[in-house]
Amino acid sequence: MTGRLENKVAIITGAGSGMGASMAKLFAKEGAKVVAADLNEERLQEVVYAITDAGGDAKPIRVDVSNEGNIKEMFEFAQKEYGKLDIVVNNAGIMDNMAAAGDVTDDMWQKVFAVNTDSVMYSTREAIHAFLPQKSGTILNIASVGGTNGGRAGAAYTASKHAVVGLTKNTAYMYEPDGIRVNTIAPGGIKTNIAESMKGVDEHGMKRQMVGMGLSPEPGSAEEIANAALFLVSDEASYVNGVVMPVDGGWTVY
Ligand code: NAD
Repeated sequence: MTGRLENKVAIITGAGSGMGASMAKLFAKEGAKVVAADLNEERLQEVVYAITDAGGDAKPIRVDVSNEGNIKEMFEFAQKEYGKLDIVVNNAGIMDNMAAAGDVTDDMWQKVFAVNTDSVMYSTREAIHAFLPQKSGTILNIASVGGTNGGRAGAAYTASKHAVVGLTKNTAYMYEPDGIRVNTIAPGGIKTNIAESMKGVDEHGMKRQMVGMGLSPEPGSAEEIANAALFLVSDEASYVNGVVMPVDGGWTVY
């Protein structure tokens, strides 16, 4: 039986943990060759071992997605190892500390934007350069329900993910005639290690956020995000372009 991503080469950032690890495993199981990128080399290595032990094909690369040079190296690595590129998943991201605009520090704003947003722009630019000559390719960005709603995180995270949604729509529109598809998943509350990136929680922001977050259904799993991602990056979604797909147990409609 052939996999749903047979003969495809995929880059996945943040592949060392949570949703990125689940997507890397599922894509490899479906026949993709996976470039697994993360800052955390130890966790990344475990994910790559799990994939290769199961008979899949994945290669790790240490990347800080907020560093444009690292992003360029990641694309060069994919070409060097696998000779082509079909799928790019911009998944790596961090939380803020829930601070509202009145309390957000420049440091927090810049750090969250560097990791969550600048990274997606650098990677999208490289992906477009790789995809244009071949007139095919797909980008999947992992935003958040914080990229569509105001009551899900602090000012920095919310704005950073709204920017990812905007970049997704613009890129989908601009390159539709070139056979390139760009979509976004907006996950709800998912059981991962993301809370590790949340330091010095702002009391006022957190109290206010609990109103929105208190409505959340039971948290979902990283595998549930990977299943939606698999569809969006596969050829089965050939006519799906520019969408922001909530995968949140219905939280968005509450
Ligand atoms: P996670 O912390 O389990 O995984 C994120 C991975 O990104 C980690 O392995 C981490 O090492 C890596 N990473 C962080 N900064 C990096 C950098 N600068 N360069 C390279 N890698 C880096 O979290 P997750 O929940 O799987 O997060 C994946 C994406 O989903 C993020 O963009 C996050 O904002 C988004 N998201 C998460 C939730 C949730 O509830 N977990 C909800 C909505 C959106």
